Amino acid sequence: MADNLPAKPDTSGANLPSTTHAGSDEPTPRAGWLGEALPASIGGFGVTWATMFRKVLTEEYPEEKRPTAPRYHGRHQLNRHPDGLEKCIGCELCAWACPADAILVEGGNNDDTPADAGGTGRFSPGERFGRVYQINYLRCIFCGLCIEACPTRALTMTNAYELADNNRADLIFTKEQLLAPLQQGMLAPPHAMVDGMEERDYYLGKVNGSTEEQRVSAAAQAANAADTAMTSEGGATR
Ligand code: SF4
Ligand code: SF4
Repeated sequence: MADNLPAKPDTSGANLPSTTHAGSDEPTPRAGWLGEALPASIGGFGVTWATMFRKVLTEEYPEEKRPTAPRYHGRHQLNRHPDGLEKCIGCELCAWACPADAILVEGGNNDDTPADAGGTGRFSPGERFGRVYQINYLRCIFCGLCIEACPTRALTMTNAYELADNNRADLIFTKEQLLAPLQQGMLAPPHAMVDGMEERDYYLGKVNGSTEEQRVSAAAQAANAADTAMTSEGGATR
């Protein structure tokens, strides 16, 4: 049986061919460790020397902030229509799409009852609006799935990336922090929709800014809110 086994390879080195000079039977003298290590070391320093003369790429952050790539996924923003009404309709699709469970949305009903009759007002075109909106930046991985899910383009991502803080609570952003600032021609909600316009007209680009009727509506809502606050303060101090 043992005669049929393959022969073991010879690892003793005894049968290795010897190195010779070309055209001679004399063995070649072996270079010492210095002869082998020195060229490698010089090669390594070559990289160092070449790098020393390259242009320095150090970024002086935070004194100098370099712009990001245009499509960089940074902090979120809740957008508005041209008259100032909010685009968010409180549908929660963004929250359901989020793989990190970082979004909390609670919808509310818009209320067209006149302010002096106790109406709480309108914040978006259509039936519902985002009453509570929070994004937890301790969880968010900036994947962008939420903005893909949003049916009204209410939620987008900006290029802002400075989101570090020294406590956890400040990294849960609220609706007030996420809402886009009012641009020229916009009016802070709650207020009525543009007279004669339907919800779909807002998405067809037919609304270009706030109107005089909306300014009256917003002023009435603000006065009503102030009255309500005074009444509740009076009740609390009694
Ligand atoms: S970017 Fe991704 S992780 Fe962050 S809130 Fe949106 S879906 Fe969630
Ligand atoms: S941000 Fe968009 S997806 Fe999220 S609740 Fe508002 S409308 Fe719906």
